[in-house]
Amino acid sequence: MDSEFVGADVDELKRLIRGKILFRSDAEEYFEATECFNHDSRASPFVIVQVLGARDVQLALNFARGRHLSVSVAGGRHMFNNASMSGDLVVDMRLMRSINVDPKEKTAWVEAGAIVFDLDQEAVTHDLAGVTGQYYDTGVAGFTLGGGVGYLSPKHGLSVDNLLAVEVVTPSGEHLYIDDKTDPEKMWVARGAGWNLGVVLRLKLKLHTLEIFQKDEKKVHGHAGLVMWALTGETVDPIVSILEKYLQMVDSEKLPVETQPLFAFGNPPPFGGAPVLLMQHVWVGNPADGEAFLKEFTDILPPTVDTCDALDWIGIQAVHTPMFPKGHRYYLSMRAANEEALFRPGTVRTLTETALEEKPKEALIVLLASGKACTEVPIGRTACTSLRESRITCLAGCHVEDKVENSDAYEKAKIWVRETLVGGVVPIFKPSVYTNLDNVNFKEESKQSAYADTAKERIATIKSELDPTNLFKFTKVR
Ligand SMILES: Cc1cc2nc3c(=O)[nH]c(=O)nc-3n(C[C@H](O)[C@H](O)[C@H](O)COP(=O)(O)OP(=O)(O)OC[C@H]3O[C@@H](n4cnc5c(N)ncnc54)[C@H](O)[C@@H]3O)c2cc1C
Repeated sequence: MDSEFVGADVDELKRLIRGKILFRSDAEEYFEATECFNHDSRASPFVIVQVLGARDVQLALNFARGRHLSVSVAGGRHMFNNASMSGDLVVDMRLMRSINVDPKEKTAWVEAGAIVFDLDQEAVTHDLAGVTGQYYDTGVAGFTLGGGVGYLSPKHGLSVDNLLAVEVVTPSGEHLYIDDKTDPEKMWVARGAGWNLGVVLRLKLKLHTLEIFQKDEKKVHGHAGLVMWALTGETVDPIVSILEKYLQMVDSEKLPVETQPLFAFGNPPPFGGAPVLLMQHVWVGNPADGEAFLKEFTDILPPTVDTCDALDWIGIQAVHTPMFPKGHRYYLSMRAANEEALFRPGTVRTLTETALEEKPKEALIVLLASGKACTEVPIGRTACTSLRESRITCLAGCHVEDKVENSDAYEKAKIWVRETLVGGVVPIFKPSVYTNLDNVNFKEESKQSAYADTAKERIATIKSELDPTNLFKFTKVR
């Protein structure tokens, strides 16, 4: 296929580009560049252009237009549907990772190849942090452009609520600076459907001050870790009580903004594949208060595993990592919860019994209250509408180590996930997909949507203005 890329335009691209061009013939480097977090599928684009600035992006897009190649953009390659690799030509941002923190203004300009770890490291030197993802190598741009829910969200909103400006090369090659003053409508799209603008080069994000505490003469910013309770016939009752307590706190708006507890039914390795209720406990603030908050749950049933401790921001950000091993095959969808069903008496018991008796061990169900500052915002304030629809988001998914012998179990678990999403025994899912966390493709697309009806039209209008020939044909406007 590389022979298709012989010609004056290829020579011109090679001569002018400051970054790097990879073809399939660049075997090892190309293979590494196409690797995504999710090993469920692997794309094989014709060419990857690792850009070093706006001009490189323009050259890559000119080349794609001239050859009628579709384009996609790769950031941290964490999106579960591997959309970043779907184009014939991939604009890869990985060489652009600089971060410029302004400690006085409490903002950072972040280049689009930067990962969460980069921003955390640069911001924390000023005891500042952004609303970033919970996995160290998630791309900050991809995370933010789709919504972005993190540990600071209960207090400070979604990542899009902290997005102040973007610098973009549009599909037609125009280089734009966009903020609320220069172009409020495009800025609105940037906040949740941002990949419809073209290639985002840099983002300006608001940062927040982390309170400092001391533990054993070390600086810490909170209290966090993983807690697990074995789920057996004997523990169903207290586990139901734990979850009911959590939902009551959400319902009565008593969940403190310092915390964003995540509860999951899964079968993690410490239990040899046996079912557990897992709590990801994160408290950003006084560790003593975090400990007291956790005790409200552990007093109901003493946990079998408890890794919680006073941690600094980098330690807190690492808590989530063991939950999602890299390089597994993943199939999942995160959606707004159907609150009416979830909060109905009896639902939590049915959910718990289902997790014990029917859930395949490869599968997991997650409940996450994204937090007050996310759901207080009117639904149409930003293009990210699904995360505002309900106080709880739920995830159903499954994953296996990427080995042929796991294929059968994986396929069976996938069927269970699909059935659970459309109803199953506990119909707790709405069709509103959080676009950043979804690779479940139903044939009838009307069954699911990432955007509220009012948002779809606004996104589609900007998309057709900026990309009339649909060069970026894989971006999601539905
Ligand atoms: C283990 C794990 C944990 C996660 N935890 C969270 C979480 O806590 N909260 C949360 O909100 N999400 C979470 N996510 C989802 C994550 O936010 C999304 O996967 C996000 O889109 C990843 O961004 P990326 O740049 O790494 O991925 P990519 O796959 O590289 O990009 C994601 C999308 O953005 C587009 N894109 C990327 N960069 C640009 C750019 N510069 N210009 C235009 N378009 C661009 C890509 O084309 C693609 O469509 C998690 C994902 C994983 C795998």
